[in-house]
Amino acid sequence: MAHPLENCANAQRTRPFCKKAFLTCDECDDVCNEVDRLRMSVGSCFRDASGSHCSRGQAVWETLWLHTEGKFYESSIGTRLADNVISLARSVDEQEGWNMLRGRDVNIRVIESHRYHGGGGLAHETHHDRGSLITIDIMLRDDFVGGEFATLEADGVVKTWSDFAMGDAMVFASNKYHKINPVLSGMRQVIVFEIWDGPRRTCAHRCTKNPRGENAEPPQSRPAEDGSSSCGYSLRKNIRENMMMFA
Ligand SMILES: [Zn+2]
Repeated sequence: MAHPLENCANAQRTRPFCKKAFLTCDECDDVCNEVDRLRMSVGSCFRDASGSHCSRGQAVWETLWLHTEGKFYESSIGTRLADNVISLARSVDEQEGWNMLRGRDVNIRVIESHRYHGGGGLAHETHHDRGSLITIDIMLRDDFVGGEFATLEADGVVKTWSDFAMGDAMVFASNKYHKINPVLSGMRQVIVFEIWDGPRRTCAHRCTKNPRGENAEPPQSRPAEDGSSSCGYSLRKNIRENMMMFA
């Protein structure tokens, strides 16, 4: 049965929790280096200032799916961070009285790297991470202007979270409406984890198929021995789609 906070209207009454100094500056650098190392070998998508898909060269917003083929989990920093993020989500879930994760077998659905350059942002005020339970955004850099994380509150006011600094982790109910103000200068880089009640995913995108959900389970979707699974959307398919879109 769905938890009450999986209902969008209820989720708007929750407040994000900002865990200060979740990572040290050195750890942020290590994560950025790992993102650089994986950059050309994981699923990706590129957007212009209007949020429309564009080519890599024209992008002001780059998204990388770091969980592609389980790659991010292969490094020591990746393994450690994934474990610590689940622990953080469970403790905030309890502390804030959300109780979405209690007694449930939950896993990481996506690990995304987002880099926003000047003009990049997430403008849609009612954007939310549909199909996930808890989202964790970790700020990896502090050399940018603008790019504030903001939430649309239940009373219609947009709250700007300006105290979200390098190393901090913003933890929120995935259905909470959130946006990113346009970056004015520099580069904003975060790593985002979404936790859901499906298996740990390894396909080259943000998977929308939860094999434990209401829809039938496709054959490729059976969990592997390490508990991860793919819907069949491969890195090759992602590369082909990116190329076809701008050929
Ligand atoms: Zn998938």
